[in-house]
Amino acid sequence: MNSSRFFTLKEARIGNNCPECYSNDSLELTLKQKLIETKFYKAITDETVSQLSCLNCEVQIFPIRWTDDIERVVDYHNRGLKRKPKSTKLKPIAWALISLSVLVLIAIILFATGVFSK
Ligand SMILES: [Zn+2]
Repeated sequence: MNSSRFFTLKEARIGNNCPECYSNDSLELTLKQKLIETKFYKAITDETVSQLSCLNCEVQIFPIRWTDDIERVVDYHNRGLKRKPKSTKLKPIAWALISLSVLVLIAIILFATGVFSK
């Protein structure tokens, strides 16, 4: 039931040369932030990823192929990036379970302290 996905924070065209096809106006940088969603909660993490793809040769350029220039530009974009604050939101089913366990706990305490035992 655990699923994590990424949502896009920023997309930018960068002017570097593509390490595959050497085109200099086709690199697109996408900065994404990670989101975890389960049955019970939805959480925004502070983990981000940078993806680079070339619109000309239509491949994703993995960090291992990045030149120093590309790394500098990616760094620059990451620094100016506005991330969403880390947060966790419980879903209604989680709230229902928490309320239920609190009720059960109260009942146990009442029985244990003898409130209902006469
Ligand atoms: Zn290319």
